[in-house]
Amino acid sequence: MRVPEHARQRLERLGRGTPEWRSWLRLLEATIAAVNDSAWDTIAPQLDPARPETAPILAGAEIAVDRSLGRRWVRRLLEAAAREGGRAAGSLGPAASALDPHEFLQVVVGQDTDALTRLAAGAGADPKALAALGGLAAMPLLQACARRLADQLPEAWSYGYCPLCGAWPALTEVRGLSPSRRLRCARCGGDWRAEWRSCVYCGETDHARLGSLVSDSHGETRKVDTCAACRGYLKTVTTLAPSPADTVALEDLGTVDLDVAALERGYARPDRPGYIVHARLVDGRTRLARAPRWHRVVRPRP
Ligand SMILES: [Zn+2]
Ligand SMILES: [Zn+2]
Repeated sequence: MRVPEHARQRLERLGRGTPEWRSWLRLLEATIAAVNDSAWDTIAPQLDPARPETAPILAGAEIAVDRSLGRRWVRRLLEAAAREGGRAAGSLGPAASALDPHEFLQVVVGQDTDALTRLAAGAGADPKALAALGGLAAMPLLQACARRLADQLPEAWSYGYCPLCGAWPALTEVRGLSPSRRLRCARCGGDWRAEWRSCVYCGETDHARLGSLVSDSHGETRKVDTCAACRGYLKTVTTLAPSPADTVALEDLGTVDLDVAALERGYARPDRPGYIVHARLVDGRTRLARAPRWHRVVRPRP
């Protein structure tokens, strides 16, 4: 497992610029290494053909994943987080063995926040610390799903949440020389076209209610879009090329000053996920074992 060069350079720049992020950056580095581990390409998502049109493609899906792969990854991440210390991290070490890793992965992939709170209570883990790790924990599996399902994503998607995993976008990229506005998901790397002027959270299109927070130093190239209807905000960065899927989470962290500016002015991201997909994780090996085996039957001659 290794971290690709583009991600390593970005991690180093962020670490140099903000040394107090180094603990979190080490967890992000471990996550990006896991995202690039080809072992996750053994997952097999089976989509629900009866999902509604408004549903992300993982809604109701059954995802076969090798239980031992999930267990190793969840343990490694929780133990690494516990080692980094800090408030509430102490509860994550014991949780690494108390938690059912398969269930944890299922809950964080689906963004089922209520189930995550119950799991944290059962494992004696700090719920906020566990929730903060949830986004990282889900990334290797979701990005493997994104690679596997790339040709099944809907061509047109007019909803604010990610067409694959249902998360709200981490940021908008205004991209290219004749710019297009693309929403990016930090979990699965999702990349979908946004309406030019509407709120991704509530659909508001009234220009009088849609605004921007623009700084003197960056102007329009790095700003916050705001909505007076739902008090939501979304960061927007101008870029020539898309961020690779495995580094959208790093761009999200690298623009945290925009989050601070928005929060200070009373804007917030929604508390609830965009769409809870309720995907089901099954043990990959069990499903393979259950699959019918075909064999040739030699009938005796009459
Ligand atoms: Zn996504
Ligand atoms: Zn809104």
